[in-house]
This record gives sequence, C-alpha cells and structure tokens, in this order.
Amino acid sequence: MGEFELISRYFSNSGARRQDAAIGVGDDGAVLQIRDGYDLVVTTDTMVAGTHFFPDDDPRALGHKLVTVNVSDLAAMGAEPAWLSLALTLPAVDEDWLAAFSAGLHETAEYYNCQLVGGDTTRGPMSLTMIAKGIVPRGKALTRSGAKVGDYVYVTGTLGDAALGLKLCQGLHEVSKKHQTHILQRFHYPSARVALGQALRNIASSAMDLSDGLYSDIQHIMKRSDVGASIDVSRLPLSQAVKDSCDQTTAMQLALSGGEDYELLFTVPEAKRGSLDVLLSPYGTPVSCIGRITGVAGKLELKHGEQPFSYQPTGFVHFV
Ligand SMILES: [Mg+2]
Repeated sequence: MGEFELISRYFSNSGARRQDAAIGVGDDGAVLQIRDGYDLVVTTDTMVAGTHFFPDDDPRALGHKLVTVNVSDLAAMGAEPAWLSLALTLPAVDEDWLAAFSAGLHETAEYYNCQLVGGDTTRGPMSLTMIAKGIVPRGKALTRSGAKVGDYVYVTGTLGDAALGLKLCQGLHEVSKKHQTHILQRFHYPSARVALGQALRNIASSAMDLSDGLYSDIQHIMKRSDVGASIDVSRLPLSQAVKDSCDQTTAMQLALSGGEDYELLFTVPEAKRGSLDVLLSPYGTPVSCIGRITGVAGKLELKHGEQPFSYQPTGFVHFV
C-alpha cells in the first residue's frame, strides 16, 4: 500500500454521515444534493506551519481548529454547515500525527454535522487546507455589506481569550493556574457560533466572524457597507481570565487586535433590537452591544464611555 493511500484511509469515513452526500470520498468528485429553495455557501481556509501554527502543535487540536475556522465562516453567513473537503500537504507520513489529526478533524466534523466528502494529499512543507460547504435558505445569507447608519454593533462571547492563549503558549504572558485551562481551550479548541449565526438570519443587517481581531475585522463591514463605526471599548466583553491576567491596556489590546476568537460580529437595526435578547437567549452565548454604525464612511471611532480613546493598532500576527 502506497503512503498516500495510507493517508487517505485516515479520512475515508470522516465526520457525520449525511443523506445529502450522494457520493462522498472515493470517486473523482463528490455528488451533493442541495435542498430546493436553498443556496450553497462555500468558503476556504488554509493553515500553514510556521505561519498559523507551531509545527509541533498537538495534531488533534489542529484537526479541530481546521474544521472550526472553516465552519465559523459558514456560521458568519448564517449557513448550516454540511460538507468538507481537505487538501493536505505533509513533509512525511507520520502515522501517530495522522491518527491524532484525523481524530480531531473527525470528531469536530461530526459535532457540526459535516461530512468529509473528498480531498487530496501531497508531499511538501506542512499545509492544511479545507473547503467547507453549507446551505442557507435562498437569499437569506448574512453578508458584510448590509450595515446601515444607526445600526447597533454586537459581538458574541468574549474577546481576546485566544490571543492570551497564544501568548501563554509562547511564554510571553503569565496566566494564573485557575484560568489556564479556559484560556488554552479557547486558543486550541475554539467554537464556531453556528446556531447563533442561523438565528441571526432575520435579525442582523450584516455579520462576519472575528479571525484577525475586532479592530481590523470591523473595517471589512465598514468597507463593504460604505459606513463608519463608533465603538465604546468599555463595553468590550472580557472573560474573567483576561480581566484577572492583564492590565487594562493589555486587555484592550487583546480584545481589539487579538485574533482567532471566532466570535461573531454583527449589526442590528434599531427596529429589531428589542427582540434580540429574547430570540438569542436559548443559544446560551452572551451577546454584547459595543457601539453604533455611523455615516462617516471608513472612519472607526473608539471611545471609552464618553471620552475619546486613543489606540495604536498592533496588526494581528498569527505567529511570531
Ligand atoms: Mg471569516
């Protein structure tokens, strides 16, 4: 048996078994059945060793993260995740690594009800690429381009946890014992806000997921929607772990420029704001209102309460 045939064995039965995957792994292509009245949503993410992760990172966590970052993009579009494809480039065949990586990929794909329906393996510097496909009721996909002046800006969960986890792994920041598990979990095993994304379909005017940090990501919504935004940094949601581990300046830096939280950033028109708490309460993920959309296109204004807040953005670097 050739080594790449061996690799394909690890992934031939991965994730959930879906009725709508008529033909999955094993043919030249997958055949997928899309329900009447639905649109297909497609997204791709690549993780490169040395850029997005440490080469000696736990392979099970890498398998988990690769699925999650892709599914998170589907969540941001309000889509239901369905199918995954994998393009794997590895310097050599390491069976222990493959077993752990495929286990992480498998269990996470199953958790999000996704089936791995195809892939490719090649030899080369380590690089992990996934294509995720999801479905959304026709015309209901959330986009970055629908924010309107006066809309309220929201985020899910807490910000800066994953970035603190990275600093902890790099030995650049101390975190007390009682918070370490939470912080490392948020960095190595992030969650995609899938149910919440779908719940936002009829509420949010725009949405995206936070991969590079709020300060940089919100500018995508501003650009695509041709608006500005005013953010009150005193309302940024911080975990107890970040509050206890960082001074205020560091906490703000993590919350504004820390990457890889995979929380959702979205805007809500005034008229739909009243029903938001009730509609989202069953999902168990807190949402926080952090500001408003303004008419000054391209201008991101930061405030602390009523005071202006000056901030030098440190562009998020995945890996130092
Ligand atoms: Mg994204």
